[in-house]
Amino acid sequence: MEYVLTTNNVRKDYKKFKALNNLTMHVPKGAIYGLVGKNGAGKTTLIRLLCGLQKPTAGSYTLYRIKNTEKEILKVRRRLGAVVETPSIYLDMTAEDNLKEQYRILGLPSFDGIQELLKLVGLEGTGKKKARNFSLGMRQRLGIAIALAGSPDFLVLDEPINGLDPQGIIEIRELILKLNRERQITVLISSHILDELSRLATHYGFIDKGSMVKEITAKELEAVCRKCTQLTVTDTAVLARELDRIGLEYDVISESQVNVYGEIPVSELTLALARDNCNVVSMHEHNESLESYYINLVGGGSYE
Ligand code: ADP
Repeated sequence: MEYVLTTNNVRKDYKKFKALNNLTMHVPKGAIYGLVGKNGAGKTTLIRLLCGLQKPTAGSYTLYRIKNTEKEILKVRRRLGAVVETPSIYLDMTAEDNLKEQYRILGLPSFDGIQELLKLVGLEGTGKKKARNFSLGMRQRLGIAIALAGSPDFLVLDEPINGLDPQGIIEIRELILKLNRERQITVLISSHILDELSRLATHYGFIDKGSMVKEITAKELEAVCRKCTQLTVTDTAVLARELDRIGLEYDVISESQVNVYGEIPVSELTLALARDNCNVVSMHEHNESLESYYINLVGGGSYE
């Protein structure tokens, strides 16, 4: 597996407080890696370290296999584009002028590509409008365009959908998917909004109190949070026999209730049960969501 980023027991202390506590993580090339954690878990601190805004107290990390203590890290960090906390944009400038400014800062030889970038993030029609008059979602997309100015292949977004309205959330989501699929950009996205990440992420890292609690692929998570149908019947023994015959997995959870995993051939099953005098009292889908998985992992508490 090729990793864009690995961290090895990274620690960041603020005086006696460990904001990051021996955090180890792995972001594979091509992934959309969802860094999930409550507010205060240490997500921004980690992102600030990766961007070189702060140094770890202990431990290390690698970007494209280059260790943070090596000289070359400065060069390799140019392959990383980031929007940390609020996007750094000039509010009294247009979207185009903001991008020109970023091109200048990066020392890029021409402004070629700016129109394409504006189009990519859906801001091509904003003309003379100053960023001050943009919606939060537009500002966020401008921030992403600025982060993309140096053509990075690793994009790091800190809580990009925080405070956005539903339409703004959809736009950011589609943009991230497009960048990942069409431009092969690896994305690290932090969020405390679990449900939203589940529509994007190919990998997850669950972080709590500065430590990595679990890394898991979306596929593995899907299997853990797999859908099941809860059946209430008058005779669970008959139901169990029929499920064995059909070859479906199940758990008998009470005298009358059974959780069934996988697609149920409903008519076939109910007919077979009826022949053996077993009635189906109720049937409903039961889905262990990403959120309940996370709560089981790190315990309850507020996400806000
Ligand atoms: P998250 O991004 O997951 O919400 P942060 O990385 O912002 O979490 O913060 C992690 C913890 O570190 C919080 O308890 C926060 O108060 C603390 N913290 C962050 N920055 C500083 C700082 N500069 N000085 C002291 N404590 C800090």
